[in-house]
Amino acid sequence: MPKVIYGIYGASGLGKEVMPLLRGVSKSKENCYFIDDNQELKILNGYKVLTLREFLKIKSEEYYVCVAIANSKIRKKLTLKCLDNGIKLLNIKADNIIVLDEVEIDEGVILSPFVTLTSNITIGKSFHANIYSYVAHDCVIGDYVTFAPAVKCNGNIVVEDHVYIGTGAIIKQGKPTKPLIIGEGATIAAGAVVTKSVPAGMTVFGNPAIELTKENLKRRK
Ligand code: UDP
Repeated sequence: MPKVIYGIYGASGLGKEVMPLLRGVSKSKENCYFIDDNQELKILNGYKVLTLREFLKIKSEEYYVCVAIANSKIRKKLTLKCLDNGIKLLNIKADNIIVLDEVEIDEGVILSPFVTLTSNITIGKSFHANIYSYVAHDCVIGDYVTFAPAVKCNGNIVVEDHVYIGTGAIIKQGKPTKPLIIGEGATIAAGAVVTKSVPAGMTVFGNPAIELTKENLKRRK
């Protein structure tokens, strides 16, 4: 019986990128599986694709899963389902990430290749930092936050729960006494340059970033 088995939940785009990073933790391909509710594929990149139930049927002393699905609401739902089933959450970190001083990282986090977290940073549950993203000093990242590739999150920024930040977006630094805040559930479009706080739930785009409305889209064309 294996001592530990590992699952990457989500046999799709992100899952395929995250599975190879698991090798650093598992040391062997033998005890690594994809988990997916969609059972069209039974093998992906040489790994079995199981349902959660099938994964739990494999006899093992410990079960670890990392949910590699970009949609934060789905990520939360599946994370809670795993915890309910006694599964432990796995942090996946590429070999070449840089993490400096006083960085606190919660569970279920994915730090993809070339990610940098500098100093005095708090990272919440299931944060996904995709390739080439960085978080600079004195930032607080909430739970289920998603950074697409190459997000530049500068110093003194608070990113609340369930925020999505698109590829290449730049968040201007806040002040130590007045951090720039990206409110809960906000979406920052790819390539946006965010120069001021964004209210909860709002989608912003462009440089400088403004709310995504039909009028604003016309104005920027
Ligand atoms: N998925 C799942 N259970 C759910 C929702 C999604 O297993 O409740 C799977 C879905 O079948 C798909 C993957 O998660 O294989 C999500 O992949 P998608 O391409 O939508 O997103 P990404 O890989 O970019 O996160």
